[in-house]
Amino acid sequence: MATDERSVFARIIAGEIPADVVYDSERIIAFRDIAPKAPVHIVVVPKTESYRNVVELAAGDPALLAEVVATAKTLAAEHSNGEFRLVFNTGASVGQSVYHVHAHMLSGQLEEGTLAH
Ligand code: AMP
Repeated sequence: MATDERSVFARIIAGEIPADVVYDSERIIAFRDIAPKAPVHIVVVPKTESYRNVVELAAGDPALLAEVVATAKTLAAEHSNGEFRLVFNTGASVGQSVYHVHAHMLSGQLEEGTLAH
């Protein structure tokens, strides 16, 4: 696959572009979002390029989805007070810009009255 066809997250996983990585395991990487929408905003990303969104991941590898959730919980405890919002944007009209499945883990004092990240 040509470099320009691969997502920015695939390139971070490959070590081709830098990121502020806070977690790295066999199947998951997590790093701070470059444009944070909360005091703590970490993107939790399965390393596989097989799934474009959470619906595909849930159908294809539910255990990996569970691992994403458990990782978010651990990171919320490590980097904040353990409470968090988990957002999976699914589709362009709701803000998905990277078509490599990922969860936004948002923590800290969040704005009230919106579920948007
Ligand atoms: P989404 O809009 O749900 O597809 O989320 C993509 C997220 O990736 C956005 O919140 C971006 O700010 C974030 N992002 C894009 N490029 C980078 C990068 N190089 N390092 C960290 N986060 C990034």
